[in-house]
Amino acid sequence: MEEEKCLCQPSEILIFPCSGGSNVGQIANEAAVRLTQNGMGKMFCLAGVGGHVSGMIESTKAGKILVAIDGCSVACAKKTLEHAGFNIDEYVLVTNLGIEKNHDLIPPLPDVTKVANHLADRIAKRRGL
Ligand code: SF4
Repeated sequence: MEEEKCLCQPSEILIFPCSGGSNVGQIANEAAVRLTQNGMGKMFCLAGVGGHVSGMIESTKAGKILVAIDGCSVACAKKTLEHAGFNIDEYVLVTNLGIEKNHDLIPPLPDVTKVANHLADRIAKRRGL
């Protein structure tokens, strides 16, 4: 039997980084930017979902795959989306990829690449690419 393939377009894949005030939060943010620039999905507004802004909620409902990137185990992006009633399809914690949390707000490029590549592989598998 042929494997079922996801036909989602990048615009239907919404990416929510926590964008927190730490290296790992900013790595999450930059990884979402990179994935968007590379056509793997579309970075979206976690703060709008957290604020229950109606347009943001409706746009998120229209997404076919929701991706959350949290910097650390406090898991703010995950909690924000779940609090608004959304299920997360792909999830990554930056600190689980061997990157330690600190308070440097300039995200090192190799760390951004590591997180972006990790998620790009997972999204591509989901899309059957
Ligand atoms: S998940 Fe961690 S890094 Fe991200 S906003 Fe929350 S506390 Fe900050």
